[in-house]
Amino acid sequence: MSGSTAQNSQTVNTTTGQVPTSMGSSTPSPTSTVQNQNNSVTPSQTTNPVAQTPANPITPGSVAPQNPAVSTQTGDVNQSEQKKDADPGPESQPPAKKIQTIEKPKDGSELNIVELINYIVKQAIKAKTSDIHIEPHEEVVVVRFRIDGLLKDVLQVGKDIQESLLFRIKVAAKMRTDEHFAPQDGRIRFIIENKKIDTRISILPTSAGEKVVMRLLIKEGKSFTFSSLGMSDADQLVVEKSYKRPYGMILAVGPTGSGKTTSLYAILQKLNSRDVNITTVEDPVEYSIDGVNHIQVNNKANLTFASGLRSILRQDPDIIMIGEIRDAETANIATNAALTGHLVLSSLHTNDSISTIPRLIDMDVEPFLVASTLNIVIAQRLARKLCEKCKKQYTIDQEELTRINKIRQDIAMHFKVGDVVYQEAGCETCGDSGFQGRFGLFEILEVTEKIRRMISERENIDDVFKVARENGMKLIVEDGVNAVKTGVTSLEEIMRVTALKQ
Ligand SMILES: [Zn+2]
Repeated sequence: MSGSTAQNSQTVNTTTGQVPTSMGSSTPSPTSTVQNQNNSVTPSQTTNPVAQTPANPITPGSVAPQNPAVSTQTGDVNQSEQKKDADPGPESQPPAKKIQTIEKPKDGSELNIVELINYIVKQAIKAKTSDIHIEPHEEVVVVRFRIDGLLKDVLQVGKDIQESLLFRIKVAAKMRTDEHFAPQDGRIRFIIENKKIDTRISILPTSAGEKVVMRLLIKEGKSFTFSSLGMSDADQLVVEKSYKRPYGMILAVGPTGSGKTTSLYAILQKLNSRDVNITTVEDPVEYSIDGVNHIQVNNKANLTFASGLRSILRQDPDIIMIGEIRDAETANIATNAALTGHLVLSSLHTNDSISTIPRLIDMDVEPFLVASTLNIVIAQRLARKLCEKCKKQYTIDQEELTRINKIRQDIAMHFKVGDVVYQEAGCETCGDSGFQGRFGLFEILEVTEKIRRMISERENIDDVFKVARENGMKLIVEDGVNAVKTGVTSLEEIMRVTALKQ
């Protein structure tokens, strides 16, 4: 069952700084207190009309006793083993598990679940998390944050809290609370420190119970620009040339989570003005740009990428963005729209820029149509930036070079013994990961007149690739090597995010 639209937003609201209580049977050391006493969540009423609705389920219901809240074994939130025994082990706490554990108060008092959820979201924002996973295991529920693209265990919740936690989330997201075996989608709006935080919620039943994933949709501080993604000035000029054409197709390609949407939004933002009609069809609409008409795919209403696109074409559009081209039907309508005087932006799941051409042809788009509409293909990846505070220098020796050469000759060939590069260390600033933030690696295929002719004459794609290289196209891996040489990231990180290319 799903009932997910933007209108489904509901505000989670709690009054004062109630803090989730915990078992924390042991001594409440100062470090174990949760910091949301003073500023946890909105002081409701005035700020938030939605909170007034009688049905609002996540209101400060239960009042937590004033015990200190969450028990923290150590302040550290590193990956750690699952706490095997989540049962209220008596007096003696098990030795350092390095992960926060939240359990039901032993004295029978209520645990404030609303506060607990707010606490998790607040911690997630602080850690610059993109997704929160609330994952049931046999003995415990583990909360993990995705930070800079990788998951990290941050805390765990007693199994006895699982049901009430799920219940609260379902109510707030306007999902069915009596449904335990079907996937559900919804949205929740949190107000944290007077800021609206929209989240997209997905619940999926697993063998150990229902798993929740919350995507944090934080627009603030997120800038949709190529500079912020770390694109070189030269590449930016090529991209600019492509969207200054009045029609044609601009494609961003790469695997999920490679920043394609950010790139497309960066272009939309540049094109956004009152004298053009920009309409998008997306699944899901994650951010909205003022002045742009965003349409949400809704399969139940038969609003698909293809049908949405057809309708958009009857709405006198200038610029169209299609979240993703997945099938032949969408591919054909999109290319036809590009041919008939519209600028079309979209994304595709191909690994590199050049294979986008055969991929479109595989989707039954005529080569001449690909040739005459495609302006540019931006292939991309996101890599983590080394933390500036703690990154450490080292010199590549023979052993290291041999090792890299064995796994990735395409990377090793750019280095020699004696080259100085950086690797991660770990400090407080970066949460011990050694990395902070991400940047893009780009490979930009500019479709020149010569390349158009080659596509339309169905020439071998390897030959097209050669011409693109002669024109100066830089590969994703080369962009990565450059980032290693300038100390932005590490060799291991580039090996992780780039694929080996023949
Ligand atoms: Zn650091």
